[in-house]
Amino acid sequence: MSLRVALCGNPNVGKTSLFNALTGLRQYVANWAGVTVEIKKGVRNHRGVQIEFIDLPGTYSLSAFSEDEKVARNYLLYNPPNVLVVVMDALALRQSMYLLFEVIDLDVKIVGVVNAIDEARRENIVIDKGELSKHLGIPIIFTSAVTGEGIEELLDTIVSLSRYPRKVSKFFFGEEIEKQIEKIAQYLSKQTSFSSFPTRWLAIKYLEGDPETVTLVGKIEGIEPGQLREKIISQKYEHVELILKEALKK
Ligand code: GDP
Ligand code: MG
Ligand code: MG
Repeated sequence: MSLRVALCGNPNVGKTSLFNALTGLRQYVANWAGVTVEIKKGVRNHRGVQIEFIDLPGTYSLSAFSEDEKVARNYLLYNPPNVLVVVMDALALRQSMYLLFEVIDLDVKIVGVVNAIDEARRENIVIDKGELSKHLGIPIIFTSAVTGEGIEELLDTIVSLSRYPRKVSKFFFGEEIEKQIEKIAQYLSKQTSFSSFPTRWLAIKYLEGDPETVTLVGKIEGIEPGQLREKIISQKYEHVELILKEALKK
């Protein structure tokens, strides 16, 4: 059996360090512009499973506004991995968790990683893993790319996730937004050219005004692209806040 597993996350959350710890592949960790836009790959065998890891460029969202975002977004949309690892920074959980709500409607299995847990402990930041996992509907692993903590658990989780059907965990927006999402998703699902795409994800991105989605989907009669942009984005942030209220104890 073989798996393809992508790592995504904000810049500097430790994706490349984790990638190195997972694959053992020695690499230069740098932040020069352009360096991360090439997609790096590495292979690891775990419990008889061949796992290919992909280190995606750092992104704050999956709207295709920057080159890095475009690369990550297109990879996930056109070449969805068997498992997606969303790497978050334990010291910047609020900011890094937003990306989870960007990927949650893609057709991928997701595991959330809270990295730099060593530093969080040093700073007495207490994160409730159970609460995070419960509210996000995905497995959560604490890792340190420096000490190696959580790496085995992450590998085990990836392999076991791949063996079971995807658990659909959506975040539901308010009624106004859900109605529009539903309309667009129905319109898209009637067209065979979109049958391999996650229609709910495309619908949300259309309403956010994501330029590549608008180009892909075309203009839909009666629904202005980007018409719910602010509302959708602020609901995602509010959701992050609600979850952190339960999961972050300081
Ligand atoms: P990327 O931009 O997401 O690929 O992040 P990098 O892997 O380049 O890491 C950014 C910085 O954080 C580097 O200085 C790493 O050494 C450091 N770092 C990464 N993971 C950890 C971790 O788990 N613990 C600590 N203390 N530092 C980390
Ligand atoms: Mg970086
Ligand atoms: Mg990197």
